[in-house]
Amino acid sequence: MEHSSAASSGIISRVFIDPVCGMNVPAGRREISFDYQGCNYYFCAEACRRAFQKDPVKYL
Ligand SMILES: [Zn+2]
Repeated sequence: MEHSSAASSGIISRVFIDPVCGMNVPAGRREISFDYQGCNYYFCAEACRRAFQKDPVKYL
């Protein structure tokens, strides 16, 4: 007999850190993310993304 119970209690909500200001940013806000060297960075606001785009090395 098979006894399978759906264990769906382990939902991980991912949080990213805005490299510009250090704030926690919940994943899923694709409109203010930016791909840099194969990594996806998330930002709290459009202004932070622009600052990162201008000079990514400064924030890494
Ligand atoms: Zn920010």
